[in-house]
Amino acid sequence: MLDTTTHTALTAKRQPFAVIEERPSISVIGLGYVGAVSTACLANLGHQVIGVDIDPGKVSAISSGQSPIHETGLGTLLDEGVSAGRITATNDLDRAVRSTDVTFVSVGTPTAEDGGCDIRYIETAARGIGMALRSKDAFHVVVMRCSIPPGTTLGVMARTIEEVSGKTAGQEFGVCFNPEFLREGVAIDDFHAPPKTVIGATDARSSNILARICAPVDQAPILTSIETAEMVKYVDNVWHAAKVCFANEVGRLCKSRNVDSHQVMDVFVQDTKLNLSSYYLRPGFAYGGSCLPKEVRAVAYLAGESGVSLPLIENLGLSNQEQIETAVRMVRETGATRVGILGLSFKPGTDDLRESPALEVIARLKAAGLEIMAHDPVITAKAPGGVQPEVRDPHGARQAALAKELGCRFADTPEAVTDWSDAIVVTQKNVVYSNVAQMAMEQHDTPVIDVVRAYEDCPTSKNYHGIGW
Ligand code: NAD
Repeated sequence: MLDTTTHTALTAKRQPFAVIEERPSISVIGLGYVGAVSTACLANLGHQVIGVDIDPGKVSAISSGQSPIHETGLGTLLDEGVSAGRITATNDLDRAVRSTDVTFVSVGTPTAEDGGCDIRYIETAARGIGMALRSKDAFHVVVMRCSIPPGTTLGVMARTIEEVSGKTAGQEFGVCFNPEFLREGVAIDDFHAPPKTVIGATDARSSNILARICAPVDQAPILTSIETAEMVKYVDNVWHAAKVCFANEVGRLCKSRNVDSHQVMDVFVQDTKLNLSSYYLRPGFAYGGSCLPKEVRAVAYLAGESGVSLPLIENLGLSNQEQIETAVRMVRETGATRVGILGLSFKPGTDDLRESPALEVIARLKAAGLEIMAHDPVITAKAPGGVQPEVRDPHGARQAALAKELGCRFADTPEAVTDWSDAIVVTQKNVVYSNVAQMAMEQHDTPVIDVVRAYEDCPTSKNYHGIGW
């Protein structure tokens, strides 16, 4: 039976693959928007393709080289593929799978009655593939293209194929997840110039076969675990939806203040350092400091004053607060009574404590009756080697005032904090903090709550708890 845990250790990386002459034959199950485009484009790359659908109208359209959907250039490619003898279509899934090397699955995954993802079409297709593989001796690769919750490819599709075929995934047949990033309307262009190619696989043989199929359009696919690839597709789409709603909220806000939203966003998009970049996009702790919380409140106030509703922007504070609550909950769950906080300011390299989320964590834990000891690399009388450029509090005056204000103790070294605490929260990323926290975890079994992804490779200790990983 499939061991899903072994496939998650892979970290995402781009890997070069050469285009090869020998091209595996491919069956495509589900000839809707995704499947019809894949059929036409894979045939255009030189593969022998058999399209499969339960809808006789789609089968007959593809068989006669006509597009079953409106998509620029699709009819021409299908017609060329059928004329060249590279495309056929059928409702006989069993024969299509047995007579090809690779099967792409692109059946529908509509919204289920409870709001989740309806995987019935996947289950039916998987049973059909399993039946076909029972009587096929050669290695076969099944490539899932549907947008589905993480775990579905291995937990539902691969498992069903294993049960029905009696074969083992990753050994007698391979399973890949290869999300589809095409945009309807420009799908043919996107196929030939994809924004990225992501491959998760049960085994190297299968990911190599798929990478070589993709090589003519992308020679450096991103190889990762199947679950990561599944989640990437969902996260991408949610991000795109968030961008649309954000831009539209900016539009409503600007219009209410007689400002041209397109001029604003023309300037906004030119900032590729902070706005359109990976900056701020790594899961970590709540935002804080002197600017973001204040400005988010100010914009929400402006909107209210103008009678404009901006649910996304107005709820940023709520989402941010939930990150603080999560950290507090994680500490409470350890059962600790003495909590060490490593890092007080909202980010490294500043002594600005205004609206620092670490202070709110302290206040919440204090209110629950827990004792706190804190250290901050900048707000200390004694500098731990190499952490901070300067020591601003040589006599400990600020420390003493803060300790009084926060109702907690201050330590001059992080070691003093970890020695005293029975749980530690790391709120700033630096090598001194990650080292002392790791030592406390390993030598004293102290639980560590990491809210900033302090480690490149997260410790595997049962005492290590990441806030979002
Ligand atoms: P679709 O509804 O247009 O097509 C699905 C096809 O699968 C239908 O023709 C249906 O008859 C067929 N089908 C269902 N069960 C079958 C079976 N057992 N055997 C053979 N055929 C079967 O769906 P779509 O828009 O092409 O999307 C397919 C998947 O790709 C979905 O998971 C979707 O979320 C994802 N996706 C879609 C797009 C897009 O732009 N449409 C983009 C990226 C990902």
